[in-house]
Amino acid sequence: MKKKIGIQMMCVVTLAILSTVILVMFAFYELFKKQVLEDLSINAHLLQAENALTVESLQRYSSNYDDLRITLIGPEGNVIYDSLVSCEEMDNHGDRPEFTEAVQNGEASIIRESDTIQKSSFYYAVCLENGNVLRLSREADSVVSVLLSVTPIILGIVVCLWILCAFLSRFLTDSLMKPIEQMANQLDHLDNVESYDELVPFIQLIKKQHEDIMKSVTMRQDFTANVSHELKTPLTAISGYSELIENGMAMEADVQRFAGEIHHSANRLLTLINDTIRLSELDSADKTDLMEEINLYAVAETCVNMLKISAENHQVSLSISGKPVLVMADKQMMEELVYNLCDNAIRYNNPGGYVAVTVGEINGEKYLKVRDTGIGIAKEHQERIFERFYRVDKSRSKSTGGTGLGLAIVKHIVAKCNARVDLNSEPGKGTEITVFFNEPRG
Ligand code: ADP
Repeated sequence: MKKKIGIQMMCVVTLAILSTVILVMFAFYELFKKQVLEDLSINAHLLQAENALTVESLQRYSSNYDDLRITLIGPEGNVIYDSLVSCEEMDNHGDRPEFTEAVQNGEASIIRESDTIQKSSFYYAVCLENGNVLRLSREADSVVSVLLSVTPIILGIVVCLWILCAFLSRFLTDSLMKPIEQMANQLDHLDNVESYDELVPFIQLIKKQHEDIMKSVTMRQDFTANVSHELKTPLTAISGYSELIENGMAMEADVQRFAGEIHHSANRLLTLINDTIRLSELDSADKTDLMEEINLYAVAETCVNMLKISAENHQVSLSISGKPVLVMADKQMMEELVYNLCDNAIRYNNPGGYVAVTVGEINGEKYLKVRDTGIGIAKEHQERIFERFYRVDKSRSKSTGGTGLGLAIVKHIVAKCNARVDLNSEPGKGTEITVFFNEPRG
């Protein structure tokens, strides 16, 4: 980048100098041309003012000026006098543009390039009263030769400015790049980086992204550690019980119980793995493709029916009320959401308690509410229960088949469906979790 800026600056400087020099040269040359033609015209009019314009008087006049050529041409174009070449050597000038124009208009100014492009010939011709044409001319450097003559100076200036540019661009790019380089080296301490105003939003953005990345790395590490830890217990049980059976150390009567334990632990492993897979699926960016308009009441009713047996086992009554409402969501996600909420409401309930599921609409907002008369959640835990593997009572969660991931999955689904969740709970009285949905679009 430094090299690029340097080269670009040099190009700009070169272009600026060249265009300025060329434009100024042309402007001056125009003035110069005007001056030369005006000089010639003054001289011609001075001579014209003389009464009897003889060859002698012309010779006398031209002897005063080295670079002035005077030619007197007769009305037929025959050269009567020329201060440079003898008349005999000169051909008829009747077809020369300055002659014909002077005859026609009384006077004429013409510039002709010489054989070499280095010189230009300036002509001024005036028609005298006797029909002769007096022509004055002078040779001068052409614009090309003027340009060529100043070329070394221009090149010198360009080279000097190039060197200046190289230093300047280095200094500029160094001061521009310094905070960026510092940033790259100190991603963890971006506040210490000295920067300029224009860079502040960029630094803020990088800082935020860096923090997010670090947070997500830590979360992933924690999650992996937690998953491994959770897998360990059932695997240890499976390994232990199966070893006892393998070594014949299990009594006949114990074998069935051990097999039951193995079965139970294997089921735990399966649930845990299923929940983990589901979470990582929900984590991946675009899993919202299956959004459709679904009847929330019908979905909730299916889940309630599915959980009826589990509720009976926990001596909890489970009911659903409300009316059909349409929400924009993924059907499978909705089933998981209702299932997880109801499952928790049953598992963290007391014998004889009840779980009430309500689906409806309030203040134009559609909602699903799961209310239980269970153990409730203390204030200090309410914020955290949606975190992965966060459990208020670990042993109760595990003994009822919980993975600690249910509400984390609920939180993900709620976010994906553009909904929000409301928690109301009092220890010993019960819990009420409500999910509010936004209006379906379109
Ligand atoms: P788990 O698989 O342990 O139930 P969840 O993520 O579903 O995990 O819930 C996290 C924790 O929140 C639970 O361990 C439990 O302590 C608490 N919790 C969830 N739902 C309820 C409820 N309805 N009543 C009381 N506590 C609950």
